Amino acid sequence: MASEIQTLITFFGATGDLAKRMLYPAVFNLYKKGYLQKHFAVVGTARQDITTDEFREMVRHSIDADGKQDSAQVNDFLKHFSYCASDVTEASGYHDLRATIDAAEKEFDIPGNRIFYMSVAPRFFGTIAQYLKSEDLLAKQGFNRLMIEKPFGTSYETAEALQNELEAAFNDDQLYRIDHFLGKEMVLNIAPIRFGNPVLAAAWNKDFIKNVQVTLAETLGVEERAGYYDTAGALLDMIQNHAMQIVGWLAMETPKSFKDQDIRDAKNAAFSSLKIYDEAEVNRYFVRGQYGAGQSPDQKAYTQEPDVPADSKNNTYIAGELQFNMPRWEGVPFYVRSGKRMAKKTTRVDVVFKAGTLPLGAAQEPQETVLTIVVSPDEKIQMTLNAKDVSDTYSTHLIDLDWEPTAAEKAATPAPYERMIHDAMDGNGSNFADWHGVATAWKFTDAISKVYAENKAPLETYPSGSMGPKAADELLARNGDHWVFQG
Ligand code: NAD
Repeated sequence: MASEIQTLITFFGATGDLAKRMLYPAVFNLYKKGYLQKHFAVVGTARQDITTDEFREMVRHSIDADGKQDSAQVNDFLKHFSYCASDVTEASGYHDLRATIDAAEKEFDIPGNRIFYMSVAPRFFGTIAQYLKSEDLLAKQGFNRLMIEKPFGTSYETAEALQNELEAAFNDDQLYRIDHFLGKEMVLNIAPIRFGNPVLAAAWNKDFIKNVQVTLAETLGVEERAGYYDTAGALLDMIQNHAMQIVGWLAMETPKSFKDQDIRDAKNAAFSSLKIYDEAEVNRYFVRGQYGAGQSPDQKAYTQEPDVPADSKNNTYIAGELQFNMPRWEGVPFYVRSGKRMAKKTTRVDVVFKAGTLPLGAAQEPQETVLTIVVSPDEKIQMTLNAKDVSDTYSTHLIDLDWEPTAAEKAATPAPYERMIHDAMDGNGSNFADWHGVATAWKFTDAISKVYAENKAPLETYPSGSMGPKAADELLARNGDHWVFQG
């Protein structure tokens, strides 16, 4: 049994979809593993006027809808839950909430250690942070930490305004900005693979790596999210946050230690050197696309989808090249792409190593080799190597070294939200988006958004069910590269 981390977690938006689907199951898993035992409490707050008993039944349903859990364990767990209805925009609501938190802290003998999880609309993040301070909800002893859902702003300007509001009440090291891709097991695997293998650590630079590719491909279309998605597109929905955060792990300098601040510093060394593009460079290094109709009748073109304006220029696909002006990465392109209605759903990283030469007089030169980390929906690590053909010559062909977790390992893998809540309890910020990285990502994508908003870049159409526009292939071909994952 793990050792207990005595914590009081307050969930804002406690009756919401995310809380029910992800957050309570995550907390229950931490309880089952022993990270939460006796000295913990969960306080839920939202607008709905429900009782603590009704709240507990809601949580029971979320963690044990099919009744297969140990009911005594579920009941013991639920005893630690209480509820307080409040409107986050009104100071008065925080007084009742403070009383509920104080009572829970006393009942379960918790030494401060408060986490406030904001699972509400982003417009409330700053307001809640400020009221937590002004209405005296912060613990006097132990820690106070704020977990912040996404999105963190909609531009650099709005993100900075939010950051200022948060910093009026909290220090930056108390802020845990969630990007759930950073909690995925295979994204967490990037650092151990890169730094835990001296051979790869030594080769992780321009001398050995030809390019790096991050692909976040979805097969679904816009579905019911047109209202939001038409204002965000793939650039803000996937690239600005998830793709850039994954790139952070790949491009970072070697950290001084694996403490969170050193990891952030090492990532920020890379982010600080990211080249922000002007209009001509946006056109040269980025491709935007929008899906057209596909083969099947239910694959409508984006502009035919419900609630999408017929003249929408929104990007449902983005591919681009990032450049880091640092000695480690001189001349090495980092390609990112993300799209809806693509041929195959996948999140993956491909690190392409330069081809060597074979001094043995073979007819065929060795090829580039690739380290692939498949994040989802499968989980896999693959590495190709040049090896000798079964023949009289020293010709080579690529062989595959493959690993994937067993079914038992998959079942035991913590879900991203469990990982992130656990890390926040532990005070480990390694797997959260740091302000400097978020700010850089916004500056980078704002420069692209501006060109697109002014319609100063072509909008390529690609057929639903394809891997995106041809222009995205040409983007790589120009450098003598190609997308490793072809669908
Ligand atoms: P939701 O609409 O299902 O729930 C919103 C919650 O906020 C409800 O509990 C509601 O009572 C509460 N609320 C609304 N206005 C309030 C007010 N004035 N005072 C107090 N409480 C109020 O939303 P959700 O899907 O659970 O999303 C919550 C957050 O998580 C959002 O920031 C969203 O961007 C983010 N998010 C959600 C998902 C998801 O899968 N649902 C995924 C990623 C991020």
